[in-house]
Amino acid sequence: MRGPNEILKEVYGYDSFRPMQAEVIEHAISGQDSVVIMPTGGGKSVCFQIPALIFDKLTLVISPLISLMRDQVEALKSNGINAAYFNSTQSDYEKRIIIEDCIKGKIKLLYIAPETLIHAFNAWLKDLPISMVAIDEAHCVSMWGHDFRPEYAQLQAIRKRFSNVPFMALTATADKVTREDISKQLGLNQPQLFLSSFNRKNLSLAVRAQIPKKQKEKEILTFILNRPDDCGIIYCLSRKETESWSALLNSNGINARHYHAGMDTASREAIQDGFINDNFQVICATIAFGMGIDKPNVRWIIHNNLPKNIEGYYQEIGRAGRDGLPSDTILYYNYRDVKMLNDFVDDSDFKETYHEKIRRMLNYAEATSCRRNILLSYFGEYREEPCENCDICNNPPAFIDGTTICQMALSGIIRTKEQVGANLLINILRGAQTMDLMDKGYHRIKTYGVGKQYSFRAWQHFINQIINLGYIEIAYTDHLKLKVTEAGKAVLFNSKNVELSDYIEKKEIKTSKKSQNKTIKASGLSQKIKEFRLELAKTNRVPAYVIFNDATLQELVSHQPKNKEELLAIQGMGKVKVERFGNELIKLIQAAKPSSNSTKKHTTLITLELYEKGLSIEAIAEERGFSTTTIVGHLCKLYEDNYPINLNQFVTEYEVNTIKQIRKKLKNTNQLKPIFEALNGSIDYQKIGIALTILSKYQ
Ligand code: ADP
Ligand code: ZN
Repeated sequence: MRGPNEILKEVYGYDSFRPMQAEVIEHAISGQDSVVIMPTGGGKSVCFQIPALIFDKLTLVISPLISLMRDQVEALKSNGINAAYFNSTQSDYEKRIIIEDCIKGKIKLLYIAPETLIHAFNAWLKDLPISMVAIDEAHCVSMWGHDFRPEYAQLQAIRKRFSNVPFMALTATADKVTREDISKQLGLNQPQLFLSSFNRKNLSLAVRAQIPKKQKEKEILTFILNRPDDCGIIYCLSRKETESWSALLNSNGINARHYHAGMDTASREAIQDGFINDNFQVICATIAFGMGIDKPNVRWIIHNNLPKNIEGYYQEIGRAGRDGLPSDTILYYNYRDVKMLNDFVDDSDFKETYHEKIRRMLNYAEATSCRRNILLSYFGEYREEPCENCDICNNPPAFIDGTTICQMALSGIIRTKEQVGANLLINILRGAQTMDLMDKGYHRIKTYGVGKQYSFRAWQHFINQIINLGYIEIAYTDHLKLKVTEAGKAVLFNSKNVELSDYIEKKEIKTSKKSQNKTIKASGLSQKIKEFRLELAKTNRVPAYVIFNDATLQELVSHQPKNKEELLAIQGMGKVKVERFGNELIKLIQAAKPSSNSTKKHTTLITLELYEKGLSIEAIAEERGFSTTTIVGHLCKLYEDNYPINLNQFVTEYEVNTIKQIRKKLKNTNQLKPIFEALNGSIDYQKIGIALTILSKYQ
């Protein structure tokens, strides 16, 4: 019998387990219950899928995320595993087939939503032999969790019926109350708790404080334009902002959409699908976006405002880099965000708690030591060594004696009778001649102009810290005016020493060096493999990542496997995938190798021979065992090399003209995708590719 390690390699194509996976699997195989807490992207699925493959009967997987079920099941099938899902979106006929397959023992894993489960259980499931029950998103069973679903409460009945089979509850929710409640609510039998680290090393962390709007827009645009192949999410506090960001990005040639809860269901679903299928590069969304999105190649997350708590923030940035590749996260915030958040919660019964959560969030944003350690300590994991992948670790602050700086600020506040906010105070300290300042006569006070030597941004940086140190507080309820605290008075009057981190002018956003080097550049080969993947995905009606994810893509590009053995050594290439499309993939990779120019020429010439015999694209593809995309590629290449290829027989003049117009609007892009989308899919990729080749010749 195959053990977990062999299954991991053969079925999934992975060499080693991630932390905690092997232990969880062993525990389930031994027939015991468990509660598994792993961060998003930690690899929970493998934990119940491998035991399911080892057991001989059916494993039930309970999940509330109906929209994800099909993709999850397709991903299993693509690895050769007999899986099915059962939910309210299916026809009676489809359901009957699944029931029969389950009864015949043909299915290893059955994904089912809790609301469907109870009915199915009474009707036919209760008499079936079951090996294991996995409950995904298990926090939904607890009233303490952030997403309580009443149907989960009925799972107790399932437990009673299958009292002797192992149950596995899985969630990414970290908080302790929920964790403990899960086992109680599900009636688990002395479950073992597997709590994996919440450290997501591949996510870089950066914060940008108090950046003026225009500059922020410029920074974010530059950031995205520098990563044309990377998709990401901008989280905004308000619906209006999601719309204005999306408009701004689109007007700069970036394919973006907005998403918020005020939109109708159909539009929201269309946008989710489009994002999952890589049709849009950027989603500008409120936090309503993300639940139930399993896209593994989200390369960056930007927060346009301060989130209201660390839990939410961590979940949101956790949506980046599920495939384990380096990904960037940047948080922008200013004091207005803080005021707005505080105003939101002011009427709540839990006001104190919410204010405290906002305060913790702000502390994170204003940190002067490793940000990751601050996040992890919030979740109860304590670490001291610097992470080397946050803006603070990459750019450690130098500390200076800030006593005088601090005294200048405090004295400015006192002399203006605590009636000014941070910006006005800075203008006073820098001796600016603004109207409001002169009107109020602040140019006559003693501290006017004493801090000229520091720039406006430098002062912002210092004042942030002074607030953090507790010498100044912000009156959130009184127009964000600054007040001197008791501790502040000690600095001002007793000359208590203050250390501040120095201000270093940052020209651009620093993100992880790793990600800049490692993200897939649009090299010819990766583009070809991507197109191959997209074609397979379309044929099978699944998102591209189900065929293989970007981590696998990257290995394919860097290792360029020459045969099936080498292909099997690539992470994420299991046996079934290699059997299904390995040969074609190897041919494609070998043909695209720059070093093998001669074979490339050779291969296009073979295509030419067949073309000259009058074979259609399809027939040539069939004959040569290549995809039609590859053959079209050959013909275009031959055309460019001035061979007598009549590309016009594959596209109409009207289509070429349409593409020409659209391309002009898209700044003469040579990328297929933006054109395809601008045409709303009315002309297929193949034709667009051909049209571009024709156009490029007559440019
Ligand atoms: P979660 O459900 O915890 O968010 P998933 O189960 O979806 O995470 O796994 C996240 C990604 O990690 C998937 O693309 C999965 O294929 C990959 N993965 C899981 N286990 C391993 C492993 N041992 N080695 C490499 N990749 C893995
Ligand atoms: Zn760090």
